[in-house]
Amino acid sequence: MNKILIVEDEDAIADIEKDYLELSGFQVTICKDGTSGLAEALNENYDLCIFDVMLPGIDGFEICKRVREEKDIPIIMLSAKKEDIDKIRGLGVGADDYMTKPFSPSELVARVKAHLSRYERLVNTIAIDNEIIEIRGIKIDKTARRVFVNGEEKLFTTKEFDLLTFLAEHPNHVYTKEELFKEIWDMDSIGDIATVTVHIKKIREKIEMDTGRPQYIETIWGVGYRFKV
Ligand code: CA
Repeated sequence: MNKILIVEDEDAIADIEKDYLELSGFQVTICKDGTSGLAEALNENYDLCIFDVMLPGIDGFEICKRVREEKDIPIIMLSAKKEDIDKIRGLGVGADDYMTKPFSPSELVARVKAHLSRYERLVNTIAIDNEIIEIRGIKIDKTARRVFVNGEEKLFTTKEFDLLTFLAEHPNHVYTKEELFKEIWDMDSIGDIATVTVHIKKIREKIEMDTGRPQYIETIWGVGYRFKV
């Protein structure tokens, strides 16, 4: 269930927003002043925030700005003054949307839903792109640091995992042993670059059907290695 924070000092308005949002299946929390609203928004995990502009304590502009510095969640601003809209736009407080009072509660609910689904799509896209690399039969889960070859999990040491992931993230790019050593071992390549060869050999034993004829990590003689796609 999506959690929504409303920061609004007028009880009647806060109650209407809460009723409509709860009827649509959201879990709603209300804060009635800026100070508690800001603390709540920063310390708890909300999926979306609705801030009134004029509030006792810290105003809605400031809350929006401070929350935006820490979180990517959608923020909708509400204001009784039309002039505030220019401020919301112009000051770059980071709000995703704004509505002026009086507003239609069902319109608010519609916008909340639209922002949440847009945000969820965005988050899912990033999660898939960033965390899972799939190349033919190999699946690398970067977050969990696990590797599956044709569905079977293989265990990798930290450096083996880093090296495989680096190569798989730059497919068809040929790297010299010096470059790989520098990239993965994070030192100037004065160290022992034979380490790279040893690690490539170990990785191949785990991912290749036939290490004599590698299908994934290819040796480019006299140059280095590349992950073939
Ligand atoms: Ca107010």
